[in-house]
Amino acid sequence: MTRKSPKLVVVGHGAAGLAAALSAAEQARGLGQDIDVTLLEKSREADAGGNTRWSPSYIRLAAPDRIAPGFEEDMLEMSGGLADRGYFRTLAGHAVRTIGWLRAHGVEFVTPVYYLSAGPARIQPVGGGSAIVEKLLAAAKGEGVKVRYEYEAKRLVMAEGGRVGGIAVQSSDGATITLEADAVVLASGGFQGNSAMMRAHFGVAAETIKLISPGTRSDTGDGIRIAMDQGACISGDWNGMHIEPIDPRSTGSAPVVLVYPYGIVVDRDGRRFLDEGSGLVHETWEAFARDIHFVRPGSIAYAILDSRLFDIEGFGRAIRSDVPPYQARTLEELAAQIGVPGHNLRGTVAAFNAAATGDAGQFDATRCDGLATAGLEPSKSNWARPITKPPFLAYPLVGGLAYTFGGLATNEKAEVLCPRGPMPGLYAAGETTGHFYGTAPNAVAVLRALVFGQIAGREAVDFVARVGAGNSREIHDGY
Ligand SMILES: Cc1cc2nc3c(=O)[nH]c(=O)nc-3n(C[C@H](O)[C@H](O)[C@H](O)COP(=O)(O)OP(=O)(O)OC[C@H]3O[C@@H](n4cnc5c(N)ncnc54)[C@H](O)[C@@H]3O)c2cc1C
Repeated sequence: MTRKSPKLVVVGHGAAGLAAALSAAEQARGLGQDIDVTLLEKSREADAGGNTRWSPSYIRLAAPDRIAPGFEEDMLEMSGGLADRGYFRTLAGHAVRTIGWLRAHGVEFVTPVYYLSAGPARIQPVGGGSAIVEKLLAAAKGEGVKVRYEYEAKRLVMAEGGRVGGIAVQSSDGATITLEADAVVLASGGFQGNSAMMRAHFGVAAETIKLISPGTRSDTGDGIRIAMDQGACISGDWNGMHIEPIDPRSTGSAPVVLVYPYGIVVDRDGRRFLDEGSGLVHETWEAFARDIHFVRPGSIAYAILDSRLFDIEGFGRAIRSDVPPYQARTLEELAAQIGVPGHNLRGTVAAFNAAATGDAGQFDATRCDGLATAGLEPSKSNWARPITKPPFLAYPLVGGLAYTFGGLATNEKAEVLCPRGPMPGLYAAGETTGHFYGTAPNAVAVLRALVFGQIAGREAVDFVARVGAGNSREIHDGY
């Protein structure tokens, strides 16, 4: 078979894959190279976009043209010192340029008002992640990228010299074909949508965690497995996941309820089990939501508040459930509505109120206000005001899984690493790569998908331009 032009295949239609495909096409044009760029997406066109499409896509920048000081150190600190400094240095170094590139492709950014509590500075694309998908897709098509929906990447085909030669894919009619590829970028998300992998890495019941958005289920660890089958190294915390407390009654995407620090949280027996105010919400949500799912009876908990919630300025920003809270004039009625023993809930609230003796005038939802309980176990370290003012409110809470941390090891060029070094012609970006440890650095997942997606696309084209087309005898079909 004669090759017309070298071929690059990108797997995945989220932020990482689209950034890779577009930057590859732009790089090829800039170099005057005729390189055929194809993006494969396993979903139907209407469902494509993975997590990115459903994500508000907060991005940890002080402003579109400015990264916050200390970004790199913060990343290392959040990972408990386990993160690869080179990875986060590269991320910091390319962040502003990448946002500028998105703006040049029509993505506008604003400074959002985020939840209630202060946290790291962030910007947000107008229209969230779906705007990123839409604008990058249009630009990629404009650059001649071919987009193939309902093409599921299955395995890599290796060529001589251990370099990538092609990729076997299954199309919607069930046929498996092998596409030629002189380089491949894997950007198919994490493994949160794969029950077997979830169970293997997080234990029994992990596969029953509710997925936070419709796009989350399409990330089934394929890119990770495909590269590992060829000997790729792994990185990141394989027992790490980003999970948030959501309202199980809502059928909407990401119905998070982040007002739990301002009241108390009880289990199905009506008992408290944690310090609800141990930190700002984005510092506590992962451990809290994991605890609910894996430890609490029935994998459910209830945030209990009173009508003073409505006095907190902008409280609605912290509630994305479209279902109103349970409301009752008495705690017994509230308990009956949510199905917890009334005498237990009454006793728990009474004990909490007796310990919430600080000056309620000190209450400040936007920061750790130091309004702590006295002599209560578990204690509440901040925002401890007695729950006395009806109507009493309850939000049911379950864990909602967004993404996993375990993935491929990559370097600053987004090359996939194996024990011998970079795997020739193989690149990865976004959730498919590891790099996160312990707890997810807030508002960094989309940024890293974009930055390393862009790097992967550029580097893959440079590789193909430098090394030329491969010569795999295994290839038996073209496109
Ligand atoms: C509700 C929600 C809120 C979030 N909020 C934020 C936030 O504010 N800030 C932030 O930084 N991050 C946030 N995140 C996380 C962030 O959105 C994601 O980590 C990031 O968008 C992932 O991008 P990606 O390109 O790696 O993967 P994805 O966007 O998930 O894209 C992967 C794509 O690969 C496709 N695919 C999978 N397997 C195959 C295969 N075998 N063959 C072909 N295609 C395949 C999938 O269908 C999908 O289209 C949020 C996530 C969710 C769900």
